[in-house]
Amino acid sequence: MSKEAVLYKTEGNKVRCLACARRCLIGEGQVGFCGVRSVRNGKLYLDVYGKVAAAHVDPIEKKPLVHFYPGSKVFSFSTFGCNWMCMYCQNFDISQRRRAEGVELSPEELVDMARAYEAEGITYTYNEPAIFAEFAHDTGVIARKFGLFNTMVSNGYWSDELVDYVRDFLDAVTIDFKGNGEEKFMKRYTSASGPEPIIETIRSLLAYGIHVEITDLVIPKIGDDLNAAKNLLSKIMDIAGPDIPIHFLRFHPDYKLDYLPWTPVETLEKHYRLAKDLGFRFVYIGNVPGHPYENTYCPNCGKMVIRRDGFRILEWHLTEDMRCQYCGYKLPIKGKLSKHAFEDRFEPVFI
Ligand code: SF4
Repeated sequence: MSKEAVLYKTEGNKVRCLACARRCLIGEGQVGFCGVRSVRNGKLYLDVYGKVAAAHVDPIEKKPLVHFYPGSKVFSFSTFGCNWMCMYCQNFDISQRRRAEGVELSPEELVDMARAYEAEGITYTYNEPAIFAEFAHDTGVIARKFGLFNTMVSNGYWSDELVDYVRDFLDAVTIDFKGNGEEKFMKRYTSASGPEPIIETIRSLLAYGIHVEITDLVIPKIGDDLNAAKNLLSKIMDIAGPDIPIHFLRFHPDYKLDYLPWTPVETLEKHYRLAKDLGFRFVYIGNVPGHPYENTYCPNCGKMVIRRDGFRILEWHLTEDMRCQYCGYKLPIKGKLSKHAFEDRFEPVFI
């Protein structure tokens, strides 16, 4: 399956892809940077439309989304390819492969599968969903008709046109800076030009009422500078305010940076304290199961209101309308607690 893309325009005898901030200019017979959008007979095609690289049922907390339909099951899938080339990508076998086939599944079939697994939503993840926007769009529109929500895990390196295109089906996005957000770091280790397109994406998504959570991978030795983190957090505070959830994720050695160590937990705790000192109310540490900063604390009375262990919810002390059981403070959590919240929510579909 391959389908003509929506997000492109013709420029002379070439085609300008509008799906991400790279805005590749692609000639006849050529393929864009991501390896999955190519030009044939003057038209841009999404070569991975209906071709799935991996699919799983996951807890929504794995995305991570912790202030959006907590405890829900999300049917998650990817295609191949990416618009970045992170040297430490944990899914490099998916993201850095080109011209790979995958399993043929139409949007209708994917929604049927999600419903069969009793998933409450669909997540477009494991590789960058911007590059397969049309496939995600067609799936998401059908999913909505059946009452499922749609979320993405993304680097946020989007175009304005993409933000506009996903508005009619997208409910939540995890934006992952995958480093400290410094231009020099990004150019060297991810191939992206810098953080500005990501900041603009966050601004636009929030303006459209789409829920956003921020993750930042703290990479020891090369991406753990607190001043860089402070700059990035200040920009996020300016556009999103103190209620946006911030997740600092622990790095583990992978791909071309497999010689680096795991992030020390103290480094993550320093980032946590920095964000709290800057005024963020909901800061989390990820990939350290059992750490107390995986929990949610009421910003008013300080009591723990959600206890987690990894992606599992162990305790819940909020009312149905997301008020602290102890002091009545209303937490900015969208949706309701899922009936699956206390179950084991991992189910591999295929890899
Ligand atoms: S999605 Fe981005 S990287 Fe891929 S062809 Fe379009 S502009 Fe280039």
